[in-house]
Formats: sequence, structure tokens, C-alpha cells
Amino acid sequence: MNHLIKSNMEEIIKEVASLLAASKHIVAFTGAGMSAESGIPPFRGEGGIWNKYDPESLDIEYYYRHTQQSWSIIRKVFYDYFNNSEVKPNPGHEVLAKWENDGRLDCVITQNIDDLHTVAGNTKVLEFHGNMSRFVCTKCGKKFPAKSIKMTYLPPECPECEGLLKPDFIFFGEGIPQEAYYGSIDAAENCDAFIIIGTSGQVSPANMIPGIAKQHGAKIIEINMEPSAYTKHISDYFIQGKSGEILPQIDALI
Ligand code: NAD
Repeated sequence: MNHLIKSNMEEIIKEVASLLAASKHIVAFTGAGMSAESGIPPFRGEGGIWNKYDPESLDIEYYYRHTQQSWSIIRKVFYDYFNNSEVKPNPGHEVLAKWENDGRLDCVITQNIDDLHTVAGNTKVLEFHGNMSRFVCTKCGKKFPAKSIKMTYLPPECPECEGLLKPDFIFFGEGIPQEAYYGSIDAAENCDAFIIIGTSGQVSPANMIPGIAKQHGAKIIEINMEPSAYTKHISDYFIQGKSGEILPQIDALI
């Protein structure tokens, strides 16, 4: 990074810090990049999970037709790999938790399913795509912590009704959880600063939420390693870098 760009970036970070300090309602909108520094790989692109496994295993129709095959990939990808002890919130997650605790952040809208915002301490988390740390029974609808269910034999069964359990995140072909969907629209309509963090903006309908905030007059701040679908169109401030480094820098100036 040359000096000119660096000093410009420092200026932008300062400006964003004063903007956030003066804002009454701040909302964060996060994607896979938020958790990259926690060691969770992206789904697509270099090192992405779907280069190794067929995303068909997460198609809802395939899941009901080939439950056993689907579950053996789900267990490998999400529960053997992600659930290892090295995956933990990074300094970016910690800043968002601190801001909620300080009364500065209204909520986090996340496309991630990794539960890391909640583990970091955020309580107002709108899980647009659900959460892998819970299982839901496809028969009785009850939810259980994934860690409480033995996965020696697949597919795992509901401890109460012996129905088929499914991870409580949405599969391809499933709708967005209603509470998260309408809650996100409401939060986007009623904030004055909206921070987009680590998302390429390719996944619909989640990708329309930042536009709603913009239309309702919020300032749009974006943190990403590279420009996204939002950068040229709606971002008022684009801070290029890792969220685990940029968020603590902003926090230090508020
Ligand atoms: P994406 O993979 O399409 O885009 C990730 C974005 O993050 C990219 O624009 C990239 O430049 C940026 N990025 C990478 N590292 C970063 C860092 N350290 N700091 C800031 N930005 C960084 O992700 P998406 O837009 O969230 O869409 C993928 C979908 O897959 C989502 O719907 C999500 O549900 C799912 N997903 C979830 C997880 C998770 O739960 N952690 C991980 C992978 C994918």
C-alpha cells in the first residue's frame, strides 16, 4: 500500500469513526468475509468448500431423497470441520459485540451460519440463513443444540419424536426464516448508519437489504478486502482491508 492510499484510508477510517459516534441507530450486515479470520473458509472461490464437495448435498429436495448421503457430507463439512475448537470469534466480531453492549449497535444482520456473533456476545442477531449450531426436527419442529445430538449413526433422530433432524440453516430451495427476513427489512429502514462487512453481495434475497437502508437515508459504510457488488453503487465509504483489523481501528477512534 503506498503512502497516498494509506493516508487516504486513515482519513476515511477517521471520518467513519466520527460518523458512527454521531449515529443513533447503527446496523451491521455481515457475510463470509467476517469469519474468514476465524478460520472458516468461503463456500466459493479459492479454497472454497464447494470446490471439494458437491453443493447438491444442501439442496432441500436432494436432502429428502438422499438423506443418508446428504448427511454424511453435512457432518464432514459442518460438524467435523467447523466445530473444531480453533474456530472462535475474531477481533471484528468482538468489536460488534462491544458496540451492542455499549448501546451503539441496534443489531447484526448476518448471512453467516457459524454462530460466531452470538458466541462473541451479540444478542440481537438476525440470522438470515439460519444457524448451524442448532438442529430442527422436520417432524415436530423442535430445535436442539447440535452439540447435544450424537452423530455416530446418520441421519440423526429427534430425541423426542424420532423424526429426522436437519441443520437449522436454510438449504438451497428453502425460504428465508420470516422473523429474520422482516426483522432485517425493519432494521434497514430504521437505521442512520449501515455497515456492510465481508460480503460479495451475490446471494439473493439477502443482497437487497443494504439497498433498503440506502433508500431510507442511511449512510453506507463498507469493509471488504476487495470491491463488491455494492462498492460503486451504494457505498458512501469503502474501507479496503480485513474486518478483523479495520473494525478495531474504527473502534479505537470512537
Ligand atoms: P462470499 O464468499 O460471496 O464473499 C465473501 C466476501 O468477503 C468477498 O467479497 C471477500 O472479498 C470478502 N472478504 C474475505 N475475507 C475478508 C476479510 N478478512 N475481511 C473483510 N472481507 C473479507 O460471501 P457472502 O457474500 O457471505 O455469500 C456467501 C453465502 O455463503 C452466504 O449466504 C453465507 O450464508 C454462506 N457462507 C457462510 C459462511 C459462514 O457461516 N462463516 C462461510 C461461507 C459461506
